[in-house]
Amino acid sequence: MRTARLRSGRHFPIGKILCIGRNYADHIKELGNPAPEAPVIFIKPASSVIGEGEAIVIPPYSHDCHHEAELALLIGRTGKDIPAARAMDHIAGYGVGIDLTLRDVQGELKKKGLPWEIAKGFDTACPLSDFEEASNVADPQNLQIRLTVNGEVRQDGNTSMMIHRIPAIISHMSGSFTLEPGDVILTGTPAGVGRIVSGDELAADIPGVAALRVSVA
Ligand code: ZN
Repeated sequence: MRTARLRSGRHFPIGKILCIGRNYADHIKELGNPAPEAPVIFIKPASSVIGEGEAIVIPPYSHDCHHEAELALLIGRTGKDIPAARAMDHIAGYGVGIDLTLRDVQGELKKKGLPWEIAKGFDTACPLSDFEEASNVADPQNLQIRLTVNGEVRQDGNTSMMIHRIPAIISHMSGSFTLEPGDVILTGTPAGVGRIVSGDELAADIPGVAALRVSVA
């Protein structure tokens, strides 16, 4: 069982991982997608999580695996139909995650109108850092998110650029899915997504909050 660890030592077994797609205008533009009116939501299974120092294994059915560095929220309190005004009370901590996406496979699935699981939820598709306590993060809506591949900066965005902000995401998602302690929410990626290949070293960080290093097998 995969565990989400807070810096304080508190920890939770990881539940479901809820993700929002197309939440930064600059990323929507780079993929040539229309801006969605309602948030696009999908789920990665807990079995897709890897941690610090572990290796990404790109499935043999893909030749185009992309990194998407994202602010990760760790849920610490159960809630259903959470009003936006109380949404922040449900967050136990903040971390950084990489929403790995098999862009070629996802493209084929989209064309056929099929769901994305094999492009987004495969084993190792969700590298996740440890989490900083929510009480230590003054303004989660003003955090820098960076990702480097082999030391070269690929993504450098800020959570202030989100289209759907954190309280709205939590409120919206909890309308369909009861949020439970140990659930993780990935809040979307800024621009700069790109391909990774065998041997690459990825470093994702949110300065002052979380950092994560993984490699590609
Ligand atoms: Zn994503």
